[in-house]
Amino acid sequence: MILPKFDYHEPTTLEEALRLLSELGGNARILAGGTDLLVRMKLKVEKPSHLISLRKIPGLDTIIPRENHGVTVGPFVTAADLSKNELISDRFAPVALAAGRLGAPGVRNRATLGGNIVNARPAADLPPALMVLDAVLKLKSASSEREILVGDFFVGPGESVIEPNELLVSVFMERPAPWSGGAYIKLGARKTLEISMVNVAVMLALQEPEGPIVDVKIALGAVAPTPVRALAAEEFLIGRQPSEQVFLEAGAIGVGMCQPITDHRGTMEYRCLMIETLTSRALNQAYQRAIAWKP
Ligand SMILES: Cc1cc2nc3c(=O)[nH]c(=O)nc-3n(C[C@H](O)[C@H](O)[C@H](O)COP(=O)(O)OP(=O)(O)OC[C@H]3O[C@@H](n4cnc5c(N)ncnc54)[C@H](O)[C@@H]3O)c2cc1C
Repeated sequence: MILPKFDYHEPTTLEEALRLLSELGGNARILAGGTDLLVRMKLKVEKPSHLISLRKIPGLDTIIPRENHGVTVGPFVTAADLSKNELISDRFAPVALAAGRLGAPGVRNRATLGGNIVNARPAADLPPALMVLDAVLKLKSASSEREILVGDFFVGPGESVIEPNELLVSVFMERPAPWSGGAYIKLGARKTLEISMVNVAVMLALQEPEGPIVDVKIALGAVAPTPVRALAAEEFLIGRQPSEQVFLEAGAIGVGMCQPITDHRGTMEYRCLMIETLTSRALNQAYQRAIAWKP
């Protein structure tokens, strides 16, 4: 399969990229790692006449810690770099774990955070992980700038609120509270190079090591047209003392949030069973990390 013809642009500043996006409008696409876009172009699903590469724009591939506050991650940071970064692994574990499960090493070396968010696939690995950390996306055009919670970004399969003239320029995550821990579990038909049949991300905070759950977020991928939060399960868990039984009950409640489909990867019934099991497993893992929390 060969790529259709297109003009290639390699801006060296963000301003130049935004100007190009605004001038070329719907005929242009941002090119990050190309692991999604170039495949879609080869399949003739997308036929942009201009590609605007992010490769030469400085600063988009950085992970910047914010003193006592959180971290800002550039959209051009690859899944491989996210999975290996110490700060992300220590404090934002669901993101590092999800990045480490995306595709295979060759894909992870090219696939970017921004591309994984903007392509808005229901089974993508990073969106549920970002949702449990309440990540804030900064979208910029030549004339405006806005911030949006990642949970409000997705509209449907392949659809989001980003405008054709906007670029995702950064992702900010607030540092989680003390005594918190996270987890990410992906179920595919194989262990590597497989799109999720179901994925679950959890972030859980305790009042103190022996204390009740004071905050919890559960996000599920590949179970609905967009990734979803299991709000009823979260509500059930707040104020409860963690235990295997409580996590099992939360898993059963979590199934209520899903509208899984039957496809070649798995039946609706199997997906529902897996949501229940993986949610309680992810809660357990997040709890183990929360009690092992270090300042
Ligand atoms: C073999 C293979 C295996 C894969 N396995 C997985 C997997 O296990 N899990 C998974 O989640 N995905 C998987 N993918 C899909 C893909 O690799 C990921 O979604 C990846 O993160 C996309 O990032 P990218 O940088 O390659 O995006 P690109 O292909 O460059 O771009 C994707 C889309 O996002 C837009 N875009 C990119 N960056 C920005 C930005 N900063 N602002 C605005 N728009 C932007 C592009 O215009 C395009 O529409 C796989 C793909 C392949 C080919």
